[in-house]
Amino acid sequence: MSQTEIRSTCCYCGVGCGVLIQSEAGRIISVRGDPEHPANYGRMCSKGLNLAATTASDSGRALVPSMRLTRDSAPQTVSWDEALDSTADGLARIIRLHGPDAVALYVSGQLLTEEYYQFNKLAKGLIGTNNIDTNSRLCMSSAVTAYKQALGADAPPGCYEDLELADCVLMAGSNMAYAHPVLFRRLEAAKAARPDTRWIVVDPRRTDTAAMADLHLAIQPGTDVALFHGMLHHLIWEGLLDRAFIDAHTERFDALKEKLRDYTPRMAADLCGIAEQDLRLAAEWFGRAPAAMSLYCMGLNQSSHGTDKNLALINLHLATGQIGRPGTGPFSLTGQPNAMGGREVGGMATMLAAHREIHDAGHRQVVADHWQIPVERLSARPGLTAVELFNALHEGKVKAVWIVCTNPAHSMPDLTMVHEALQAAELVIVQDAFAATETTVFADILLPAASWGEKDGTVSNSERRISRVRAAVPPPGQARADGWIVREVAQRLETLLYPGQPTLFGASTAAAVFDEHCQLTAGRSLDYSGLSYALLETEGPQQWPLPKGQRTGQARRYTDGHFATANGRARFHAPEYQTTAESTTAHYPFHLISGRLRDQWHGMSRSGRVAQLFSHHPEPMVQMHPEDASRRTLNEGDLVRLTSKRGKLVLPVQLSVDVPPGCVFVPMHWGSQFTNSPGVNVLTLPTVDAASRQPELKHAAIRLEKVTLPWRVVIALRVPDLTASRIMLGNALKHWPYAALSLASTDVLLLKAAGERSHSGCLSELMQSLNLMPGPDVLVYQDDRRGVIKRVAWQGSRITGLVWASPLPTDWNQASQVVARLLEDRDWEGPRLAVFAPTGQVPSVREHMVCQCQQVSERAIRQLMTQGATLPDIQQRLGCGTVCGSCLPELKRIVLQPQLA
Ligand code: SF4
Repeated sequence: MSQTEIRSTCCYCGVGCGVLIQSEAGRIISVRGDPEHPANYGRMCSKGLNLAATTASDSGRALVPSMRLTRDSAPQTVSWDEALDSTADGLARIIRLHGPDAVALYVSGQLLTEEYYQFNKLAKGLIGTNNIDTNSRLCMSSAVTAYKQALGADAPPGCYEDLELADCVLMAGSNMAYAHPVLFRRLEAAKAARPDTRWIVVDPRRTDTAAMADLHLAIQPGTDVALFHGMLHHLIWEGLLDRAFIDAHTERFDALKEKLRDYTPRMAADLCGIAEQDLRLAAEWFGRAPAAMSLYCMGLNQSSHGTDKNLALINLHLATGQIGRPGTGPFSLTGQPNAMGGREVGGMATMLAAHREIHDAGHRQVVADHWQIPVERLSARPGLTAVELFNALHEGKVKAVWIVCTNPAHSMPDLTMVHEALQAAELVIVQDAFAATETTVFADILLPAASWGEKDGTVSNSERRISRVRAAVPPPGQARADGWIVREVAQRLETLLYPGQPTLFGASTAAAVFDEHCQLTAGRSLDYSGLSYALLETEGPQQWPLPKGQRTGQARRYTDGHFATANGRARFHAPEYQTTAESTTAHYPFHLISGRLRDQWHGMSRSGRVAQLFSHHPEPMVQMHPEDASRRTLNEGDLVRLTSKRGKLVLPVQLSVDVPPGCVFVPMHWGSQFTNSPGVNVLTLPTVDAASRQPELKHAAIRLEKVTLPWRVVIALRVPDLTASRIMLGNALKHWPYAALSLASTDVLLLKAAGERSHSGCLSELMQSLNLMPGPDVLVYQDDRRGVIKRVAWQGSRITGLVWASPLPTDWNQASQVVARLLEDRDWEGPRLAVFAPTGQVPSVREHMVCQCQQVSERAIRQLMTQGATLPDIQQRLGCGTVCGSCLPELKRIVLQPQLA
């Protein structure tokens, strides 16, 4: 069987790395970085490098369309025709009864541009509602709003090459080392080549990014506006402005200057909780640098004042003329692979195609003409944005929701309300590649979608670069490309709503849809009417704008100082600093910060299929400062209950000096696919930014108390299909006060739970479903008086599974030893019965793996350090940091700053 290799683009983050996919016999067998792609030049991070492993098994994929008659009945497999007809009939019925705004679509920054275009056309051009919003609302809508308000258009001015040309890089609210690793590699290489480049990192936590900064400003959560205002106050005072640029190319500076009188560096530093001299130093470095750029992400955006934070940062650039030149500019890092493409086609509730405005009658006319529909069909009323949409569903104003390629039952704030809303809806259609997400359980109709590597289209990355995504293999089972599904539903809906009229969805290939979309961009700020699949084929990925007649796109915008506003001038804004939506109180004294880990992605539907990606952080946790922990007599591993005004969550404590006292950090990834709870968003609040409607996912006020769950359970099992077994167990988790599943190796599933002895009934059910019942190959030890249950499954002299349930810490240590023996997968020496009382040192079952590619643990690194090994020695001997490089920041931290790591 011959192998084939095709070019495509990574499906995870907004860096948009080019990849080469090798496949054989309908299976993706490996993925490597495309050396020719200008985003990554062959580099990839730990997530991207494991893409092939995420596609290795079809288990867990949605393989057939299914429907259920009532919310409580089991889903039944149906034909595609039945599923598509029911989708169209259900939507049409609700539209006829309640009007177009009773229907909503909630789509995703993971969709390809062509698919996004068709969904947008279906909602706005066919149904006649603007109720189509996307998970990009949760990601970067504040950055978009600020770009539009300050610069006139939703467009980052710079490009990735600027990372190498900047003399000062200000990273704010962005842990690039984790969230945009390949761009961070480019920054690291640039700093190695020009060590005088200054890095300033603004983040309450000492992340791996912050640990590498020349200056880390560990501000209090949410005080960014005060910081940027204080810095600009210093620049004005010191005369470090570009007066000529301000006069020629901007407006409203005087109003801002007036506002900044109050924001003295001392006052701003006090608000931020940092040293005044550090704030002044940051301003000096930024203001005096020949070229300064800023990079920012969710830390600014996911806030009830996210637009203000972005605007205050953009002010710094405009006041110093640090924009429109190589190495400069405010650069918003896109979270998702195609958040930008979605906005290009207008796939949000607050915009029309090609960055046009819903409220502008002229814009509506252009779009209506292009789609050949009467303009009256395009609603002039803005649609419901993400939080509003689920509120309306909860209140019964929206009756039907079609959720595509996203998992709002995990990712939205205030999850209890979101779950109630989905439960209350008349019709929930879920279109997804994965069968068992937190959202699919609410589906009345489940439409199985193709996933990455199985469909064609384009995506736009953070630097406005459009790249091709190509199918390497066919989708499994009956799954179909999202573009095919939306077209099939649209054509059915057309015949129900507008019988006898020609279809609006005649374009049947991704290339034809792309051409239709490109024409709509003509004359707009983002104009890429000159782009086509043919040009992408011959010239490679291109940045926009790229108008007709050109063959290559534009790397930087506003190079002539002419901005996309009506008068060509950029606008200063003068927002007031405001506190986070929820302040800490005596009752809720901790700032909860949520965020990402290095090797996981969103709700783990994809990355949770790969055991290696669990080795950096195997379990969910709440990180807290040792001083806070000791005040509450908490130790590493103790279970605590986190409580906000909206919900509760039980997690193990992980001590970390990287989290400042008064704050705790919880990763966003774990939900009910892997734990007993929907995750951190049961705690977060639905308050949104007034301009961007982006919710404050980053911060909530919480309290924290120790929970006593004396009965600890460990189950480890060697299984033929990790994903299938994990999904099978998923339902059982919710019966425990705490439970977490992880993949301990390529074929070992590990479950840890905690509860009371009264949970022994749940344990019996679990053991039954896992075939861990007494028999010739399952050795049993039981002490009912003390509440101890131990079972070990054998194949010959090898351990293949174990259950350890006990209230005694000595037993928990034993469990670790037996799990370690299971993972070693070698013959047990001595009598089998001795397994119940193993002796020797307690190994660390799940060592913290710094390097995921080479599986190098922190312990191994520290061992070499005791022998005097230097960083290059360690890299050479252990191989860590030599493949994808995602671990380099942590590795440097351990080796070069051992006292802090
Ligand atoms: Fe994919 Fe990593 Fe590149 Fe992001 S940085 S696009 S996750 S390989």
